[in-house]
Amino acid sequence: MTSPDCYTCGQEARIEELPLSERIVLDRHWRVAHAFDTALPGWLVLLPRRHVTAVHELTDAEAATLGTWQVRLSRALRDVTGCVKTYVAQFAEPSYRTPRPAVPPMSWRWVPGAAASPPSTNGSSLSTTAG
Ligand SMILES: [Zn+2]
Repeated sequence: MTSPDCYTCGQEARIEELPLSERIVLDRHWRVAHAFDTALPGWLVLLPRRHVTAVHELTDAEAATLGTWQVRLSRALRDVTGCVKTYVAQFAEPSYRTPRPAVPPMSWRWVPGAAASPPSTNGSSLSTTAG
């Protein structure tokens, strides 16, 4: 199921044309992209490959692979950025109500963090780093 007004569904419809940063890796249910609305390097976004607006709408198959993606992406961020920890946040925003059209209706975001990093660069500042 797709929604014509949804940014994420629009990207899915032209998946083969997307730059690599928008389809770093994908499987049947999920797509990984770099966040483009942050100044923090390494910020990853996990997106469902169909129109989903809330966690309870995930199928059992999507839910079953979500945990695997959480661990895989955390390991990848550790390996690439050298971060000690990763912070994971889930957002579910109606894309048609947001002021920016590029906000997906539901996504998970991975943010690299270091144990000794200042508060301005760790997960506690997640909400002020975006955008
Ligand atoms: Zn959608």
